[in-house]
Amino acid sequence: MSTRTSTATTAHADARRSRSANGPAHAYERPACLEQPDLYQDPLLEEPPISTAPAAVRRRAAMLESRAQELCQGCPLLTDCLYRAVVDHNVSGIAGGTTERQRTEIRRRLDWTVQPEDFDTLAGVTGRHRQVDHDEVVRLRHANPHESLETLAQRLGCSLSTVKRHLRRARTEPRKPKQTRPAPSLSAVLAAHAAVINRFRVAA
Ligand code: SF4
Repeated sequence: MSTRTSTATTAHADARRSRSANGPAHAYERPACLEQPDLYQDPLLEEPPISTAPAAVRRRAAMLESRAQELCQGCPLLTDCLYRAVVDHNVSGIAGGTTERQRTEIRRRLDWTVQPEDFDTLAGVTGRHRQVDHDEVVRLRHANPHESLETLAQRLGCSLSTVKRHLRRARTEPRKPKQTRPAPSLSAVLAAHAAVINRFRVAA
């Protein structure tokens, strides 16, 4: 079972346990990122526009971001997803109701670093996209240097922005050794999350 699928399965099991403890609820509903993969994998969420991008593009990105974050709030896996997205997996886009920038700030407060994730998203988006291994993207690029990135994306079954992100990462990010100290506790992550969300609200 893949890392991402097992993450989702474990989180589902946790949600079921939580539901049986609290009585009937909506815990069996599938996460929004599984129901709406096109929203969560929109290139504007995976790679937010820079500040000099056209205003219409930035507005659309902000609208998508806000929509995905709102949907996450109703997810039965929210707490588990947030914790894993901060502590275990460095994924792009919206995860656990947070943006990549917010998670980076949460990790900074926790003095915690995570290797960039080899998979596209945390919870196991299916549909037309599949998990993409970082090393596989780099290997295929080196093996087919004259092939267009669009063809490479089709070959891998992922989006063009995913291919670009992995290749950029291969160019710019050296692999770092894994951390050996204990991972931050859930309460520490939630406290840092609350502080960061509050700060982003004030800045908005
Ligand atoms: S990203 Fe996480 S919190 Fe948001 S819908 Fe998916 S599993 Fe739920």
